[in-house]
Amino acid sequence: MKIAIAGAGAMGSRFGVKLQEAGNQVTLIDNWADHVAAINRDGLIVTTDDGQDHVYPMTAKAPQDVTEQFDLVILFTKAMQMDHMLTALSDVLANQPAVLTLANGIGNVETIERHVPKKQIVVGTTIWSSGMTGPGHIKVTGTGSISLQAVVPAEFPDLPGLLTTLNGAGLNASPAANVMAAIWKKAGLNSVLNTYCTLFDCNIGEFGALPNWRTLNDAVLNEFQAVADAAEVDFNAQDVTALIAAQFSPETNGGHYPSMHQDMANQRPTEIDFLNGYVAALGAKLNVPAPTNALLAQEIHAQETLKGI
Ligand code: NAD
Repeated sequence: MKIAIAGAGAMGSRFGVKLQEAGNQVTLIDNWADHVAAINRDGLIVTTDDGQDHVYPMTAKAPQDVTEQFDLVILFTKAMQMDHMLTALSDVLANQPAVLTLANGIGNVETIERHVPKKQIVVGTTIWSSGMTGPGHIKVTGTGSISLQAVVPAEFPDLPGLLTTLNGAGLNASPAANVMAAIWKKAGLNSVLNTYCTLFDCNIGEFGALPNWRTLNDAVLNEFQAVADAAEVDFNAQDVTALIAAQFSPETNGGHYPSMHQDMANQRPTEIDFLNGYVAALGAKLNVPAPTNALLAQEIHAQETLKGI
């Protein structure tokens, strides 16, 4: 299959390698010129759990240099970079490829729908992980899985074929029964852990050790619940709270600094407008107040400004 990875950062690069190794023809598409140049010059370097470096010759291009067509576009930018990438790839999208995104945050379907007919779009969540260590270089740990669903299941041409391609690359993909519920659940978790750990400059275990973590958690998730109810999205604040509490121990994710913390530390924009900020804005539209989420989004933006982001 001819596959474009549109947004070949940490995750896109990891997926790109796995899909190419499985025999697909993969093109990495990215706006970071140094990253594209390093991949084309030296190959993509992947450091694995055991500290070993593996080098994969791969093709990388800037969006404006892409002329070929693809069967599948995997959109793996950050949520706030998606619109820009889709605009740059309008010629590629005109050929009606399937478009899959597993990016975090709520509202990605709305962004993609502005560029691609609904019947071509597949969305999901993933617990694969990866990190960038520099241009052309990623560090990967552990394994993961994908849960996905077509936006219009009756109209997407070949979901079994897509699953076969992903699973042929060992990506452990399975169909979701209610993908929006899964996206909101992950966004609920991120809107507590990513946001507070970034504001408090702490890891997940340190957040969980705060005597008032539950008050902070509930202030976010009770608003998520009210907005989700008004939007008729399946969401259960208690389930998300249990999932959050399960991350605190050192054996799970206690020692981990969430990606938003890492973005802030690396002076990169955060996905806050697609987490707490999205729920605050949707609440405003639906006449459901979400002042805590609105304020937290503003606090993250203030910190971005202070960091010169
Ligand atoms: P990323 O920041 O590594 O890459 C996103 C884009 O930013 C890419 O185009 C990349 O080239 C660019 N970029 C990264 N560092 C840069 C730098 N220093 N200078 C210039 N450009 C740079 O993002 P990601 O971690 O691959 O995440 C993609 C999506 O997947 C996000 O929605 C994220 O929340 C989600 N996600 C990430 C992980 C993870 O472990 N990284 C896990 C699950 C979901």
